[in-house]
Amino acid sequence: MDATRTASVEEAAAALGAGRLVILPTETVYGLAADASNPGAVAAIFEAKGRPRFNPLISHVADLEAAERIAVFDIRARRLAERFWPGPLTLVLPVRADTPVCDLARAGLETVAVRVPAHPLARAVLQAFGGPVVAPSANRSGRPSPTTFADAVEETGAATAAALDGGPCEVGLESTVVALLDEARLLRPGAVTRAEIEAEIGPLAEAEADARRSPGRLARHYSPKAPVRLDATAPQPGEAYLAFGPGEHRWNLSPAGDLRQAAARLFAYLREADRTDPTAIAVAPIPHEGLGEAINDRLKRAAGYVG
Ligand code: AMP
Ligand code: MG
Repeated sequence: MDATRTASVEEAAAALGAGRLVILPTETVYGLAADASNPGAVAAIFEAKGRPRFNPLISHVADLEAAERIAVFDIRARRLAERFWPGPLTLVLPVRADTPVCDLARAGLETVAVRVPAHPLARAVLQAFGGPVVAPSANRSGRPSPTTFADAVEETGAATAAALDGGPCEVGLESTVVALLDEARLLRPGAVTRAEIEAEIGPLAEAEADARRSPGRLARHYSPKAPVRLDATAPQPGEAYLAFGPGEHRWNLSPAGDLRQAAARLFAYLREADRTDPTAIAVAPIPHEGLGEAINDRLKRAAGYVG
């Protein structure tokens, strides 16, 4: 791939149709995209990311109508889709018997994860391509997700036939994942908050510890090379510091204490800080409310705390 040039929407759609991989901007993070119905293309994604095959992928589609062709929607699912799509919410639903999404994309499960992204370039490519597209984050497995074109190309650009530059990602964190199988469960917090979902469909149960039902809940994830130290009110000598709130710092997630700004900057700052080879990356305390739940979830995983 020529990483210095951004592809056109038509080139990206044609590459997907030919079973090739494409770097695709979304509002959450940059995705590594492939035709969800093509097992060879999907296998190439697992290969390029070094992602374990038991961890299923999210299928991205242009609208609710297309989503209803791959998954079975109940009243709760339709309600959430109508409220939050296009946007950073993924629904895990029973798969339709005639779904075009291949087994490998679903890791052999009888369920499928589906999302309608909001980024105009992602929407244009999905419309031009016409079918479901798997698009996990464009990083090598276990590394922080890329939120800029340059970071995406650096991570997995070599495996792609085309790459689209959509500017820095507005949200900066991966989508919220909600399973609607029996009880509604929050599998991964994100920019659509717990409170916003509960306002639509009532209380959310906790994600199951059962790794077969929630295969994405791996302990260490999103990790830079340097160790990560959380709730740090100041850096130790040799540490890089990600601040939050007033103060002059090279990497201040949000001087005004705004969680949206902090989320949008988090992965890019983790990567930049990591490049300076610090003894550790110390991160200021981040409030837990609202979007803070998702930011703290990613930070705990980056630090390797959760099991
Ligand atoms: P990523 O593609 O890296 O953003 O991750 C997608 C997330 O959705 C991971 O946490 C997956 O484990 C999760 N996921 C995808 N499909 C399913 C499914 N059928 N059941 C449960 N979780 C899923
Ligand atoms: Mg990922």
